[in-house]
Amino acid sequence: MIDFNVPPYVGKEMDYIKEAVMNRKICGDGDFTKRCSNWMKDKFSVNQVFLTTSCTHALEMAAVLSEVTAGDEVILPSYTFVSTADAFVQRGASLVFVDIRPDTMNIDETLIEDAVTSRTKVIVPVHYAGVSCEMDTIMDIAQRHKLKVVEDAAQGFSSYYKGKSLGTIGDFGCLSFHETKNLSMGEGGALLFQDTAYQEKAEILREKGTDRSKFFRGQIDKYTWQDYGSSYLPSDMNAAYLWAQLEIADEIQKDRMDSYEFYDNALRPLADMGYLELPYVPAECEHNAHMYYIKLSDLEERTKFITYLKENGILSVFHYVPLHTAPAGIKYGRFAGEDKYTTKESERLVRLPMYYHLTLEDKEYIVDTIFKYFHQSR
Ligand SMILES: *Cc1c(COP(=O)(O)O)cnc(C)c1O
Repeated sequence: MIDFNVPPYVGKEMDYIKEAVMNRKICGDGDFTKRCSNWMKDKFSVNQVFLTTSCTHALEMAAVLSEVTAGDEVILPSYTFVSTADAFVQRGASLVFVDIRPDTMNIDETLIEDAVTSRTKVIVPVHYAGVSCEMDTIMDIAQRHKLKVVEDAAQGFSSYYKGKSLGTIGDFGCLSFHETKNLSMGEGGALLFQDTAYQEKAEILREKGTDRSKFFRGQIDKYTWQDYGSSYLPSDMNAAYLWAQLEIADEIQKDRMDSYEFYDNALRPLADMGYLELPYVPAECEHNAHMYYIKLSDLEERTKFITYLKENGILSVFHYVPLHTAPAGIKYGRFAGEDKYTTKESERLVRLPMYYHLTLEDKEYIVDTIFKYFHQSR
């Protein structure tokens, strides 16, 4: 069976985890956490990086730091993972879903302004498949209406928009290091922002509402409860796992990009014959090969296709069930305008196996099987 995803493992993880344990500091903000955040600050040209227990938690922090409160509205795509919505629902916000563009599956930037009301507080662009949303347009709308922008860059590690790293363009950016993402620490994520005015607030929020971070830096002689907070620090053991991967992040990216290019070239003839559609990457976007998806004619065909692959030993998956059609989405949100593409396009999409060290042999077999499904030869 060819798995859909295999969590990245590069070889040094166990050594570094052992080192973290032997350091006698396995809680949050140890050596490995510092190494990981400094690496990202440097690589992504961003002032602040806080490693978190998940991207969901980074989004929660961003919602608090954006001062989202009950009654505020948050604009987001319906075609996304539940965490994008959960973080804002937790603050009592109501969700306003905007349709996606069928080419990138990202929020349609031309529809956002019509969804803005006097209660809108935040726009949440989700960079699907590590391909950037149209950020210039989104930042311009946000500026004119005085809205915050929280980038859900869960899939966008080391992706760029006009040369800028995803997660560093809006007010806040959130990365994921879940085992399904390009780089992993089991469960984990990061909150990124440029404006150092948020630094102290973020530290307090992440450290149970205390100024313990200042205490550890020797800036104060005792720490106390300052504000609302929670515990968003990952263990240094998890950071140690991530560090092993950051060290060879370029190699991981290259390996995935090879797989992406392989699929893209090999499947192009089927696309030209009209059997399927391939992903589209706008010229201003540099992506990270987070995923390779294809689109089939409709839901029925997709179901048949996934079953056929499975019968032939290949696991492929689909997502997402649009949030506005789910029980919680109906309860907490509304769709602004017409659902022209969200439902239709989500029902056609299927993701092919994609992970670090997917073998050429497996890729050849996957592509051959897809050609067979359409009764074509390569
Ligand atoms: C994976 C993912 C998340 C959640 O990440 P976690 O680290 O598992 O919390 C949020 N949004 C999107 C778009 C994702 O793909």
